[in-house]
Amino acid sequence: MTQDCLFCKISKGEIPSKKVYEDDEFFAFHDINPAAPVHILVIPKKHVVSMQHVTEHDAEWLGRLMVLAAKIAQENGCNPGHEGGFRLVTNSGIEGGQEIFHLHLHILGGTRPWSNRAAPAA
Ligand code: 5GP
Ligand code: ZN
Repeated sequence: MTQDCLFCKISKGEIPSKKVYEDDEFFAFHDINPAAPVHILVIPKKHVVSMQHVTEHDAEWLGRLMVLAAKIAQENGCNPGHEGGFRLVTNSGIEGGQEIFHLHLHILGGTRPWSNRAAPAA
């Protein structure tokens, strides 16, 4: 927990959010300013700043985070199958477009068509 971190406070319930999922390790909630019909953020409860701050020691929980995000996407309105799908985005650092410095995955879904740009709308 970093004292002034918004997402730490959200994951502890100190600041309200529209919760989608919670377990001992992770917390998921709807983005307050959705960039797509489905826009959910998935975060580790422990404070990690960004993908710029992870090492090989983080590989196992990062793997669990990815698997969980895919499950949450499919259970929360992202259209199924090859014609459906979703995008997982993690903005990292200033030049990566990050605004909240607690690592998070954006689940973006329900938008068709996506532009072919690699950069997300989020
Ligand atoms: P970033 O640019 O850091 O990747 O994305 C931060 C995201 O957090 C943005 O999509 C923004 O809308 C979302 N966000 C910022 N403040 C809040 C908040 O207080 N509650 C929720 N639910 N989302 C927030
Ligand atoms: Zn934090």
